[in-house]
Amino acid sequence: MSGAIRWLTGLVWLLLSATALAGTAQVGRDVLLLGAATDQQAPQRPCSPEVLAHHQDILSIPAPAGGWSGAPQAVDVFGVLTGEVRISHGDRQICGSMHDARTRDSRFRAGVGMVVVPKAGEREPIIVSWAAPLKPRWIPTVRLGAPSPVQQNDTARLLVRAACIAVAIALALSALMGFVTARDRTFLYYVAICAVFVLWQAVLGGLSGYPEPWLPVHDRASWWLVALSTFALALLLPILWRLNGGARLWPGSGTGQRAVLWGLVLAGLCVPWMGTAGLAWMAAALEAVFVLGCVVCLGVGLWALAQRDGYAAAGLFALAPWWILIIADALHAHWLTAYRIEALQLSATWFLMMAAYALNLRLGRLRQQRDEMRQLADTDALTGLPNRRHGLHLLARHLERASAEQQPLAIGFLDIDLFKDINDRFGHEVGDQVLVAVARGLRGAVRVQDDVIRMGGEEFLVLLPGASHGAALARLESVRRQIPAVTAPLGISGLAVTVSIGLAVLRPGRDDLAGLLRRADHAMYRAKRAGRNQVCDGEQALPADDPLVA
Ligand code: GH3
Ligand code: MG
Ligand code: MG
Repeated sequence: MSGAIRWLTGLVWLLLSATALAGTAQVGRDVLLLGAATDQQAPQRPCSPEVLAHHQDILSIPAPAGGWSGAPQAVDVFGVLTGEVRISHGDRQICGSMHDARTRDSRFRAGVGMVVVPKAGEREPIIVSWAAPLKPRWIPTVRLGAPSPVQQNDTARLLVRAACIAVAIALALSALMGFVTARDRTFLYYVAICAVFVLWQAVLGGLSGYPEPWLPVHDRASWWLVALSTFALALLLPILWRLNGGARLWPGSGTGQRAVLWGLVLAGLCVPWMGTAGLAWMAAALEAVFVLGCVVCLGVGLWALAQRDGYAAAGLFALAPWWILIIADALHAHWLTAYRIEALQLSATWFLMMAAYALNLRLGRLRQQRDEMRQLADTDALTGLPNRRHGLHLLARHLERASAEQQPLAIGFLDIDLFKDINDRFGHEVGDQVLVAVARGLRGAVRVQDDVIRMGGEEFLVLLPGASHGAALARLESVRRQIPAVTAPLGISGLAVTVSIGLAVLRPGRDDLAGLLRRADHAMYRAKRAGRNQVCDGEQALPADDPLVA
């Protein structure tokens, strides 16, 4: 361990020196110039006649009365999820989709935009055209104005979209770490959900084309969008069902959940073979399934809450933004038309966060269960002391620390005298009470940093870290003297309990765990043979005639 720390310190020192050297090399410069002059034109794809043939929706933005002022006009088109947008003014035109960064004006990232500078007094309109949307209500938003505010709005949208994706990635990474610690497959399921939602958001918000296209979306954006929406819905609905307490209220609903999941996944896999009409039909069907799912989950969540299922509150919270979207859509809310992509992404982010919250609750429960199980496995049920298995583990740790820090370590092996007689005379139950009383007495007689272990039967082990030979002998002697008093509260006349103790002190470099224990055990047997109720020092040489010498 200390070796690793030394190694790390060395590495940090090396890095700091390298940074200092690099810093000195820069002294005297007051600017860092990156990049180089270029003769490249901004790459732009020409508007292909096939694309334009599908443009049935055309918006003509007329010049104000009296003609254009001569000031630059920015046009930014949002919410065209399928196909390309064409913006033209006079002989200038650009064609672009949200997923193809090369075709876009570098000043617009969330939408497809262009800055035109009509001559003062000119009356030529700005023409915007786009392909028919996938859903009739998913109409585009066109923002017109001075370049600066239009670009600011565009950048703000881009930031919201990117932030939502960043949150999903961060949640996925934290779930991955949760899996490493908990080894629970639910965490991997959550990571898969985040991955699908990241891809779905990237295509929905056009970030798959930023800073350069990194998904092969191209002109098949509608396929990608519909397929990923289907997969996202396949994962969303079962989770909403679970979060709202459906699985707790109806434990047999697992088959139904799997049917919804795999049914939607299969439908999503069929999307690449669908034509435009099929895609439009699929998009409408998905919306119907989504609304139906939200209605069912809301009912279940409210029902679960009425049944005092507190966890269902997380489900209802996760559902809340989706319901806001459903209601706003039904009311044709202006803000939803303008900010549909951001609203969808924020709702998805909220959902992922609520699911992460539920997952953390689960992680907490798993940790609690594991701690309880470990506690049970390490503890002796009768006395509450660490059991033999855990005791040996504690002894190994003390040995390691004593060797590393060159500190003394003493152990006392303790056996109740003639315990069989106590059982025989007073009964097994009293025997148990004596064991509990002795355990409590031992715990009270040693320091906080000492350990008392029930090794089995009526045998105990006392670990005295840091105690020298003399101190350990004195402490064990004091323990032995206190024992007869510990059974007094039992109020059983004629009950006299004494113990025999064997002491062993660690001999650095000569003792291992088994050797140390053996010496303490042998010393305890010598105490028995010497007449019981005494501490025998394992450091003293054995008499030549002792059978243990053999
Ligand atoms: P010695 O002084 O030589 O140690 O004699 P002893 O009678 O204490 O030794 P022995 O090993 O012969 O007897 C130990 C007894 O402890 C035998 C067993 O029935 C009893 N015992 C072991 N575990 C328990 C327990 O959990 N509860 C009770 N009541 N008795 C136990
Ligand atoms: Mg014994
Ligand atoms: Mg005994």
